[in-house]
Amino acid sequence: MPITLTKGLDQKCYDCGIALNQLEIAYEIRGEFVDYIERKTGTINITLCSGCRERIIEYLKKDQGDAILKRKELERDNPRMPAVDYAEAEKEFIDNNPFGVKYPDDAGVGM
Ligand SMILES: [Zn+2]
Repeated sequence: MPITLTKGLDQKCYDCGIALNQLEIAYEIRGEFVDYIERKTGTINITLCSGCRERIIEYLKKDQGDAILKRKELERDNPRMPAVDYAEAEKEFIDNNPFGVKYPDDAGVGM
């Protein structure tokens, strides 16, 4: 079924998916992406609504410890969440890395 655009709602938030008018765009991210699932790279332009902007800025302010705690909470609250075999995932990434991405140790820096 064809969708008629409501006047001015020709933009969208690429996180929550809500339609936006130009003046409601609260944040814009422009740059390059790496899709590790589809194994491709490209350029991207993502617009966000104000709610998604606030959430992402909060995540940017938090450190890795907060991220680990959040993950543990999710795993605790959702025992059906599949466990990740990190050693196997890392081996597969290294063996099939199409981007030439090197870990810091590979470049002679880091730990
Ligand atoms: Zn949004």
